[in-house]
Amino acid sequence: MARIGILGLARSGRAAAQLALRRGDAVYASDAVDTPELCAAAAEITRAGGHAEVGGHSLDRLSGCELIVLSPGVPPTAMVLADHRVATVPRISELEFAWRELRSPVIAITGTNGKSTTTALAAHLLQVAGRVAPAAGNIGLPLSEVALWPQAPDWVVVEASSFQLADIDTFAPRVGVVTNLSPDHLDRYPTVAAYYGDKARLFRNASAESTWVLNAEDEAVCALPGEADGTRLFFRVSTPLSAGEQGGFVSADQWLTVRLAGRELRLLPTAELPLPGRHNRANALAAALCALAAGVDPLALAEGLRTFTGLEHRLEPVVERADVLWINDSKATNVDSTVTALRSMTRPTVLLLGGRHKGEPYTRLIPELARIGRCVIAYGEAAPLIEVDLAPHVPLEMAGRDFAEVIDRAAQRARPGDAVLLAPACSSYDMFRNYEERGRSFKELVRARGGHA
Ligand code: ADP
Repeated sequence: MARIGILGLARSGRAAAQLALRRGDAVYASDAVDTPELCAAAAEITRAGGHAEVGGHSLDRLSGCELIVLSPGVPPTAMVLADHRVATVPRISELEFAWRELRSPVIAITGTNGKSTTTALAAHLLQVAGRVAPAAGNIGLPLSEVALWPQAPDWVVVEASSFQLADIDTFAPRVGVVTNLSPDHLDRYPTVAAYYGDKARLFRNASAESTWVLNAEDEAVCALPGEADGTRLFFRVSTPLSAGEQGGFVSADQWLTVRLAGRELRLLPTAELPLPGRHNRANALAAALCALAAGVDPLALAEGLRTFTGLEHRLEPVVERADVLWINDSKATNVDSTVTALRSMTRPTVLLLGGRHKGEPYTRLIPELARIGRCVIAYGEAAPLIEVDLAPHVPLEMAGRDFAEVIDRAAQRARPGDAVLLAPACSSYDMFRNYEERGRSFKELVRARGGHA
């Protein structure tokens, strides 16, 4: 019987505690915050034979543990981890802890942008092909919950964040994907190299059985695995695969195409993909290569690709009114994903930009704004910084922190034929609990405008 400490009592920590109790471990679980949901989780753990508390941690109990499991929401900088007695206890992420109990092969997906979409799409492709294959990890379903299922699924598709990868040890996905890399989380990482370094831990336990699905058009991605063992499959959307490469690409006549073991197979015309934008072709190719690596018949892929309509808060059309299309891309929480969203736009666009600044300059938006931007409405904490970066180059209006006012201003500026795009390039924490709440608030306010643009 091991003594396990679990930090964080939201859904992942709760499932990790249940998993530890099932193994017969002695469990101490705690959370710095105290809410009714967390209290209920603590009560559930206590009833099942563990110890749990909310609103603080017992350093005595934690330092007496042999292993500490970190929930995804607990940052490596959490105060409790800095205590000198706690700091000496080995710690792992919830991802690693669940992996040790899991009896299914894993497809792990990481990268800066496109993780959730690629994870959901890969799971969908496997499911349409008849496999039991949940999407888990950062996307919502904790891996520890899957490890508790009585029947092990055929595959698990896991969205892996850099924080979760930072604290792995034996985690060894059968298939690993890196969608793309660009600076992000500079508010939480000292350098870009440190951020990329955590992503590179995906390859830590590479073996000859591993398959790596890599974005060949991203130099940082190609460099990430170094000399790691395993098969490499590449995907490209703007250029054909080179002679020696295996993987996926978009053919000259615009078909998603794969080349494996010297054979080329056409999957689907890009025009039949419901997801908009070039970036989603990359996501579709990456997901298709995962499914093929998991043994899915290529003929079963077209139906799955055609029937995946995307996730909430990712370029989600909300309503078209008075010939203005309102689009919710609240998940665009960094500059790169906002550039991507703008690239997908075919109508003059009023861009809602703002929230809590994450460290990157906004100047990289200028070329796409010059192509398709009607104007920028800058709001929230970051508005003054956005103004400094963009106002000399594009039409820009300042708004405050009242989101209804932001939307009113957008409606005034949009002309028939335009789009209004919420793709804020910032986190939401200055005004909302998270990006989901920001996106839902946007949709409610937009829908409540009735007959007005
Ligand atoms: P993640 O889980 O990595 O944050 P999502 O699939 O949730 O990724 O998408 C996040 C944001 O990034 C969305 O706003 C979307 O428009 C954009 N995006 C999605 N896929 C890509 C990609 N392959 N490259 C760049 N940006 C992307």
